[in-house]
Amino acid sequence: MIAAALRRCLLILWVLPGTLVGLTFGLLALATGGGCRRRSIILEFWGGAVTWMLKHCTPLPGGVSGMTLGHVVIGRSPEALDFCREHELVHVRQYERWGPFFIPVYLLLSVIIYFRGGHAYFDNPFEREAYEEAP
Ligand SMILES: [Zn+2]
Repeated sequence: MIAAALRRCLLILWVLPGTLVGLTFGLLALATGGGCRRRSIILEFWGGAVTWMLKHCTPLPGGVSGMTLGHVVIGRSPEALDFCREHELVHVRQYERWGPFFIPVYLLLSVIIYFRGGHAYFDNPFEREAYEEAP
């Protein structure tokens, strides 16, 4: 019991750099009319400026439904978060494996893949794993 609680605390700390980035976007969502809910140790935020960002500031035409940042998932709406939850949970597990290295490794792989002629998003191994587990 204590070992499980300690493990959970260490996991939260390991993922904290990504979570802090996610909380920044979460606060932006709340400050611009969005909402928030908790699912286990994951916080989900939606709406406001985050919805605009997910529509216009991603590598995919038309944007994405959601994005995982540590133990935070941001989405266009509560319905969008429901739609992409399984996919985003794969990214949560990836964050728990890679910790503070997830964001730089993800971005570095996307840049390398792009300059080698691939698709920065769909050919990224983190996305390929997520789409294989939760299409
Ligand atoms: Zn993904």
